[in-house]
Amino acid sequence: MSEISESKTVLITGASRGIGKAMAVLFAIKGYKVFINYNHSENEAHELYNRLMEKGISIALFKADVSKREQVDAMVENCVSRFGKVEILINNAGISHQKMFTDISGQEWDEMINVNLKGVFNCSQSVLEYMLRQKKGKIINISSVWGMVGAACEVHYSAAKAGVIGFTKALAKELGPSNIQVNCIAPGIIKTDMINSFSEEELNELKEATPLMKLGKSEDIAACALFLASENADFITGQVISPNGGFVI
Ligand code: NAP
Repeated sequence: MSEISESKTVLITGASRGIGKAMAVLFAIKGYKVFINYNHSENEAHELYNRLMEKGISIALFKADVSKREQVDAMVENCVSRFGKVEILINNAGISHQKMFTDISGQEWDEMINVNLKGVFNCSQSVLEYMLRQKKGKIINISSVWGMVGAACEVHYSAAKAGVIGFTKALAKELGPSNIQVNCIAPGIIKTDMINSFSEEELNELKEATPLMKLGKSEDIAACALFLASENADFITGQVISPNGGFVI
């Protein structure tokens, strides 16, 4: 796999914790300029920022709710003014919630769609103002296996994540002629705060249903994103890669 020839700029949404944080660390180690987005986890984001700054890495952070367009535009403007451009966008920010479909309120439905799907729309449209001018760029969207096969008690989450897959495929077709690749990662079950509500028993059942007999790590997803962001993936667009230990084949 080739190393990057010059420092590229990556904007990662939801990088204060979990998968986004692992991506920020890996991209930073690999020489990228990393722009970290967070929303509520101020302390975690600043801790990560300080840790990477101490290593002499070009890093910046910005608080923005991806579901709010004005905040997203301000974030992207800040990224471009700090780093000169934005070459890679990773739409990672997300929320999940387990509830019987009949109990999901209209407000909960809207919140799920606004963060997990409209956030992807907001961030992609905002960076495209710059990427289209550059005639170069990569957008990597984080969906989920539940967006591929659906999960009981997560209809709103599954619908939003399935939307991310459709979004990826359609936008890839539209942006191909502009030399912009749009791809999707649909992780299986990954050990982060997001699965804290699962009991030990439920996690064991999920492990047993996984041919590789283990849950994934944030670093597994970060490695996949690093590949998709690299020049080695220049001929890949509109695809869904699912690091899931064989949970969905
Ligand atoms: P996590 O540990 O709960 O972290 C979620 C991240 O998203 C946090 O950094 C959070 O930032 C950020 N976020 C949430 N709402 C936001 C908003 N409105 N604006 C900006 N940032 C926001 O979850 P994770 O497991 O790392 O999940 C990352 C992505 O992977 C999500 O899209 C998730 O759906 C997907 N995924 C996860 C799994 C899994 O098993 N863990 C499986 C498949 C897909 P703050 O804390 O700063 O608000």
